[in-house]
Amino acid sequence: MTLLRCENCGHEVSEQAGVCPQCGRTVPAGDTNALGIAEVGRVMQVLGGLIAVIGVGVLFALSGPHLSAVQAAIVWRIGALFVFLGAMVCVLGTLGRRQQGH
Ligand SMILES: [Zn+2]
Repeated sequence: MTLLRCENCGHEVSEQAGVCPQCGRTVPAGDTNALGIAEVGRVMQVLGGLIAVIGVGVLFALSGPHLSAVQAAIVWRIGALFVFLGAMVCVLGTLGRRQQGH
């Protein structure tokens, strides 16, 4: 749920309400606040993809025959963690943007 600020009295209004409960003024949806969320969603998508790529990069850069079993396990865990986090951030960003389309 997005909170918008009433232009008239500054009261915070739910985007769904559409009307300020304080002064009755119509609060238009899709203002700069909503735009900011779409922007954050896009940044999260790019950032998530970047984190996932770093995770794969860590795996390829650090893994190899010179590692002991314990070191290899640590490298794989760090890499998998990065890929997982990146994917999650990317998905959240995508969901945020999709929600904004309504
Ligand atoms: Zn108001």
